[in-house]
Amino acid sequence: MPTNRPVRVRFAPSPTGELHVGNIRTALFDWAYARHTGGTFIFRIEDTDTERVTDEYIQKAIDTLKWLGMDWDEGPEVGGPNGPYLQSQRLDIYAEWAAKFLAQGDAYHCYCSADELEAVREAQRKANVAPGYNGHCRSLSPEQIATYEAEGRKPVVRMRMPEGETIFTDLIRGEVKFDHNFVPDFVLVRADGSPLYTLAVAVDDVLMQVTHVLRGEDLLSSTPRQIRVYQAMGVSPDEYPLFAHLPFVMGQDNAKLSKRNGETSISWYREAGYLPEAICNYLALLGWSPGEDRENVTMKELAELFTVERVHSSPARFDMKKLEAINGDKIRALTPEEFFTWSLPFLVNAGVHTGSEAEVALTKAALPIIQERITKLSEIPALLNFLFVSNFAVEAESLVKISDADSKKILTLAHERLSGLTEWSHGTIEEVLRAALIEELGLKPRIAFGAVRIAVTGSHISPPLFESMELLGKEKSLERIASVR
Ligand code: GLU
Repeated sequence: MPTNRPVRVRFAPSPTGELHVGNIRTALFDWAYARHTGGTFIFRIEDTDTERVTDEYIQKAIDTLKWLGMDWDEGPEVGGPNGPYLQSQRLDIYAEWAAKFLAQGDAYHCYCSADELEAVREAQRKANVAPGYNGHCRSLSPEQIATYEAEGRKPVVRMRMPEGETIFTDLIRGEVKFDHNFVPDFVLVRADGSPLYTLAVAVDDVLMQVTHVLRGEDLLSSTPRQIRVYQAMGVSPDEYPLFAHLPFVMGQDNAKLSKRNGETSISWYREAGYLPEAICNYLALLGWSPGEDRENVTMKELAELFTVERVHSSPARFDMKKLEAINGDKIRALTPEEFFTWSLPFLVNAGVHTGSEAEVALTKAALPIIQERITKLSEIPALLNFLFVSNFAVEAESLVKISDADSKKILTLAHERLSGLTEWSHGTIEEVLRAALIEELGLKPRIAFGAVRIAVTGSHISPPLFESMELLGKEKSLERIASVR
């Protein structure tokens, strides 16, 4: 086991779409392991599937990792001694190794057509035997090869899987054994010369001297094939990377994570107003725990505390409510300046204001009254809109709630008493409204203040009322109360 070598861990996504919760959980554990051990974090883009991986998705993957605060030591943009870090730029390397495997007899040319392979699969289905390549082209005679060539068939390169089994120790699951009866000869290079994942991933892990492969459990079954490639490359078993297959992430309903139950892109969470620290904190808890029932960790603490021993082998469950709660905690922990910096783009993008000096000043004054109350930054525009809106109107749904005689009475008295105020502060506003509405009219605060709230903010959901009125100013507050009373 390569434990005495300096730790080198890689995150190697195939960006065929935007990165999702599952990808990022893997990236985070890779990053944390590298940082915890003082090792190297490599970011490699597995883009050999040129039809599905696009430049746009590659760029998004890079941006997402950066936004989340995972820095890498080798990879796109930063370079490094083992580059290039985009597999599409390493095709000659894979071609050389495939040629070597052919020359060594570890691999062979397979001329079977798609139809022939399908017929084999069909026969296997009928006979109820495990599906897989039947070894037809394993030992073709020179004449057979000549015939296929003359027919114009283009061969794939297929790896010969010897009889026996592959056994390795997974750092999370312990000993894992694969019987080669269920690991048929596999394709390394397509007929058009393009490499397949198994070839590229194994070659790169060896050439980039990766010591630890932490990745999703869905890739467990590809491990014996990768180990077969290491063998063919002449790597000695004590130099193989160590594997740690991370538990699946299930949806809240215990079904596989999908769009429906949380598996949406990280950019969705970003737009919904989740902080990167919250996303990372929450994802770190999916399959790992810092111990002592602790749930709040910063990136720095994650790097300090992360060990593979604390990763569970049982599936983790994605819980949106918990993510929201953690996001709320992280929002509350921001300094006023940080909170302002995060909030401003949400207000501007939602069209609440344009970010002018006066609007910024009002925003800075208003943010403290909502920082304790929100769980997502995307809640901010609706909460603060009443301060900036020029053509104010009460929401239809809220208007119904104050279109009765009681409300008229409340608002008329509120208007009268507030008009007399010389000092406009939340303290004085509260004082006169309590005296007038609660004591004099004998109303319940919920009813009395509810009506005022709707009148001045336009909605029955708003930041704290008296503070809101202070921020809105006397003139506008009275104007609005007058307009609906
Ligand atoms: N590129 C592979 C994927 O995104 C993962 C490679 C690996 O971690 O071994 O599924």
